[in-house]
Formats: sequence, C-alpha cells, structure tokens
Amino acid sequence: VEGELPPGATVIICDAAGQALALGAYSPTSQIRVRIWSFDPHSDIDKAFFKSRLQVAIEARNDLMSSTNAQRLVFSEADALPGLIVDRYADVLVCQFLSAGADFHKSLIVECLQELLACNSIYERSDVSARAKEGLSESSGLLSGEQPSEIVLIRENGLSYQVNIREGHKTGFYLDQRDNRAMLAAHSEGREVLNCFSYTGGFGLAAMAGGAKRVINIDSSEQSLQMASSNAALNKIDSERFSVMAGDVFSLLREMNTAQQDFDLIVLDPPKFIDNKQQIDRGARAYKDINLQAFKLLRPGGLLFTFSCSGLMPDRLFQKIVADAALDAQCQGQIIHQLKQAGDHPVSLNFPEAAYLKGFCIRKVNTAHGY
Ligand code: SAH
Repeated sequence: VEGELPPGATVIICDAAGQALALGAYSPTSQIRVRIWSFDPHSDIDKAFFKSRLQVAIEARNDLMSSTNAQRLVFSEADALPGLIVDRYADVLVCQFLSAGADFHKSLIVECLQELLACNSIYERSDVSARAKEGLSESSGLLSGEQPSEIVLIRENGLSYQVNIREGHKTGFYLDQRDNRAMLAAHSEGREVLNCFSYTGGFGLAAMAGGAKRVINIDSSEQSLQMASSNAALNKIDSERFSVMAGDVFSLLREMNTAQQDFDLIVLDPPKFIDNKQQIDRGARAYKDINLQAFKLLRPGGLLFTFSCSGLMPDRLFQKIVADAALDAQCQGQIIHQLKQAGDHPVSLNFPEAAYLKGFCIRKVNTAHGY
C-alpha cells in the first residue's frame, strides 16, 4: 500500500510488475483489504459509475414486480456493488452500507437512487455488527425524503404483510424466503402446520393461504408474534386456526414430543447459527437437534421444510446433518425439493459465497407401507 489513505478511498490494484489490474475500495481494518469496483483500471468511480450499476440491478428485478411490491433491488457483490444492500418496501427504500467503500460513497449512492426510483423515503439500516470488521460503527435513520411510517404495508403472493422497517430484523422482512413461502403454500392444503422461528408469520400466513387446517407459530420474540397475529387479522385469517406461542423452539419441540403431539407439516427456519468458522460444530449440533425433534413430531407422509441461512454451512454438510437427524428419529425421508434464496438475491458466478440460504422440503416416508 502506497501512501496514507482514508477507509473507503478508491485505489488502483496493481500486479507485482506494477501493471494496473482493477479499481477498488480500500479498507485498512478489514481482512478483505480491497473490494473491487471495476476490473477496468481506466474507469472512473464516480456518480455515473454508480448510477449505471444501480440501473442494471434495478432493471434486472423488473419481472418480479407483478407478485410483490417488496424486493431486494441491490444484493452487494452479486450486483457488482460490494457491501451495498437496497431493499424496496412499497414506496420506501431501505439501505445497508456494509463495507468501507459503500459507506464512503453513501451520499452519491443515495442521490442516484433518488434519481432512478420514485420513492418517498430512503432509510438506512446499517445497524449490523459486520460493520465493525470494516472499522465502521452502526448507523441507522432517514437518508432522504420524508420520515417513513414505522409500519409499511407490502403485498406478496396475494397476502399483505406489515413490515417494521425501523426495528424489524435485517431491513424489516425476510424477502429471501419469498419463493419458499409460495412453495409451502402449494403443499399446505388440509395440513396441520407447526411454523418454528416464525418471526412475523411469513410461512404461517402462506400456509393458511394454501388451505392449511391450522397453524401454530413459535418464536422467542413476543413483538414478532404480535405482528404475526396482526398480519393474520389483516388478511382476515380465522384466529381460531392461527395461533402463536412465545418460547424457545429447542425446548418447546421437546415438550411437544413428550406430550405426543404431531403435525403434517413443520417449518424450521432458524436464525443464523454460524457467524464464523469456529462456530460450525456448535451450529451443526443445533441444526441436528431441531431437525431430530421435528422428524419425531411429523406424521408419516408429513413434510419438513428445513433451512439454514448460515453461509458457512456447506450444502452437503447440512444435508448430512438432516439425514443424521432422520436416522436418530428412526425414520426415512425423501428430499422432494431443494430450496434456496429468491431470485432477487442472485449469486454471481464469480462470487459463489453469496449463496447463503439452503433448505429442503422433505417427505417423511410412511414406513408402515414398506421400506
Ligand atoms: N421464517 C421467518 C424468519 C425467521 S428469522 C420469515 O420467513 O419471516 C428467525 C426467528 O427466530 C426470529 O424471529 C427470532 O426471534 C427467532 N428465534 C431465534 N432464536 C429462537 C429460539 N431459540 N426459539 C424461538 N425463536 C427463536
């Protein structure tokens, strides 16, 4: 590194012979010292650059507009804008600036978004611990436009959801599970559903829309469950058939097994159990535990929708953990769908690490009829 540079400054990356290779954002505190903006060392990292990258990303999402008015417009490296997340909730944009480079150009990026999109507010939710790795403190609040109401109403696959953009998880809603909620709805007819780690009821509402007989939603956050109930009311879902239960999924699944309860469909969508490589073993045990309990609670022929959103959990290992859980629960399972993040969270061919969400829809085989 030549000279003293502020975090986020644009630098030229050269090879050993001094030949310029690319332009990137410098981050002195991060293990990732430079994130590439452009492999053309002669380009300018200016307003026109950001505007064109943003425009490409936004246009790529156009085909999604019919089924929802909430989507991820910019997904960091996958859209060649490392460290930048932009989510749209109706007429509000919620942004995260997660790298020194994205943070350095914040006001320019906000200006471009204002010019490219008709929105009422641009709000920041960079209140994430990952910013510390870039030497940045957490930051949130209004960036442009009018102060958005705390609750923004969105629609997705025919359902309405309230999203708390100021205090909700991530930027407010788990947009990445959109396609999987639709898949679940298609398998819910007549089933008794247990929705674990329900947050504001995403999968639970989808199950009801798909004709589920009843849904029990479990989450440790009372606030999330309150919103799940009000989301159900908003969609005129019969409250007798849609209930919420506050508590720890790990212990409640055990209690339900002791009480010999059973279900036709179980969703396991836990939070990220693995933040760094040291946590893989511990995370693996946690996944094993809940999947084992869920298999026991599932009736033969029932379906398990099981997920891991830990990017550091390899697909194959996750499959083995779930297979082990079935073995210990003394049942057989068939993977009938392999699940992943929705298409507005694309994976660039040269950045496979962006594929963080993985899941399976598994049918518990009825061994009474063979095997
Ligand atoms: N399926 C949801 C997203 C789940 S996010 C959707 O599609 O919208 C994970 C949720 O798990 C969070 O709401 C968090 O409050 C909850 N949670 C975390 N640990 C938990 C635990 N041990 N028991 C119950 N809920 C937990």
